[in-house]
Amino acid sequence: MTTSIAPRHSAAFLDGNDKRLLIDGRWIAGAGAPFETSDPATGAVLATLSSAGADDVDAAVAAARAALHGKWRAWTPAARARVLWHIADAIDVHADELAELETFDQGKSWATSRFAEIPSAAEQFRYYAGWATKITGTTIAPSITYQPPGKRVVAQTVREPVGVVAAIVPWNSPMLMAAMKLAPALAAGCAVILKPAEDTSLTALRLGELMVEAGVPAGVVGVLTGDGTVGARLASHRDVDKVTFTGSTATGRALTAASGASNLKRLTLELGGKSPVLVFGDAELDTAVPGIARGIFSNCGQVCVAGSRVYAERSVYEQVVDGLAAAARSLRLGHGLDEGTDLGPLVSRRHRNTVASYVDDGVRGGATVVAGGRAVGEIGSFYEPTVVVDAGSDLPMMREEIFGPVVTVTPFDDAEEVIAWANDTDYGLAASVWTSNLSRAHRVSDAIRAGTVWINCHSYFAPELVKGGHKESGWGYENGAAGLENYLETKTVCLTV
Ligand code: ADP
Repeated sequence: MTTSIAPRHSAAFLDGNDKRLLIDGRWIAGAGAPFETSDPATGAVLATLSSAGADDVDAAVAAARAALHGKWRAWTPAARARVLWHIADAIDVHADELAELETFDQGKSWATSRFAEIPSAAEQFRYYAGWATKITGTTIAPSITYQPPGKRVVAQTVREPVGVVAAIVPWNSPMLMAAMKLAPALAAGCAVILKPAEDTSLTALRLGELMVEAGVPAGVVGVLTGDGTVGARLASHRDVDKVTFTGSTATGRALTAASGASNLKRLTLELGGKSPVLVFGDAELDTAVPGIARGIFSNCGQVCVAGSRVYAERSVYEQVVDGLAAAARSLRLGHGLDEGTDLGPLVSRRHRNTVASYVDDGVRGGATVVAGGRAVGEIGSFYEPTVVVDAGSDLPMMREEIFGPVVTVTPFDDAEEVIAWANDTDYGLAASVWTSNLSRAHRVSDAIRAGTVWINCHSYFAPELVKGGHKESGWGYENGAAGLENYLETKTVCLTV
């Protein structure tokens, strides 16, 4: 491995040996063509990864099925809770290593990896450890018209694991996204095959090792690396009961088709967003502007809920534009592991080109860049935090998910107008409202069609906060009790006594 920065915590993992697939508790080389993963800040190759072939997918699914109906089923809920705690503890113990791997592989700053996402991943396991012992059904006295003479009809519902789950995750927050799926699925008693994104598989592989060490039985968790064809094979596999997915809306649509064409497997889809940010004239701008800047620029805008469309009431419009432009200019780009770096690179050169083309097209369409707007550096995939004004509502940069550090700011004159603009999107993932008027905050949040509305904050997450997309931003919910429901079926048992 060559990087401009030597690993301090992850050297043993990045030891030069090719990485493998986790199938049935063993690490094996996949049948597909090996591929490299690289540091997006330097382009240096970090590791060579295995690619799962069709037989590997079948073997992982078969191992998951066997575990599900075998030893894993015999585990008590308390035993599942304990193993989830052990995983959380292992993540904490190895937090420096996992954070370093995440930053090398994805590009995000050390602060984001080490103090936000890796600890949050551990908390997902702790949170759902608590739920494992609280999964209960109901008893029912059914109003059956025919009651056998001398007998009574009673019924109960039993909650069962949905079965073999394929967890397909994206590259923006790889470890946290994996934890958000693994933790509730394991708490529910499912067996899970994790398919990380091809650009960012390292923490999934290390987490796989830690889960095995923590005592997760063979087959209960598998890790299959590779590109979208591996995900597609899982999605069309007749013995996979459920796909839980975070990623693009285009892939979400492919998954619905694959489910329909195979076994109607259950789907939870966390898809794209184009989240509006509504700033009213009475907002406390001293906190609003930095909050909005964090809401778009964190993780270089590679966040599904990134507040990419800012609408500012005309009385504060100039201040909001100037404040966001100043915030954009103040952020220091650099290698995520360099001290003083605020923002790392985008995940890949390919993605940087996509981000740049949205901005360039916008400018050709009449928009004006007031800060940033350029790719920087000879190496890596850095892109400046960018603030754009005068962007027409039909421009792709106003309608499509850019997934980069690019924000548009548009003035508005009244609440009805801005609510209509906020809702004028196929997406419905998140929004934020900035105002010191509590009634307005509630009225506006009621009117916005989105899975999450933040008031005077943006991008606040916790395992307790249910998260999901309305409209074309997804199906189903993650986090909280709703997140557990994803992984449970209900069986009604009706009997005469
Ligand atoms: P992006 O376009 O932002 O890379 P994707 O939705 O393509 O996002 O990728 C998210 C995850 O979905 C990755 O793990 C990727 O390999 C996987 N994936 C891509 N295409 C498919 C597909 N057709 N079926 C299943 N998984 C896929």
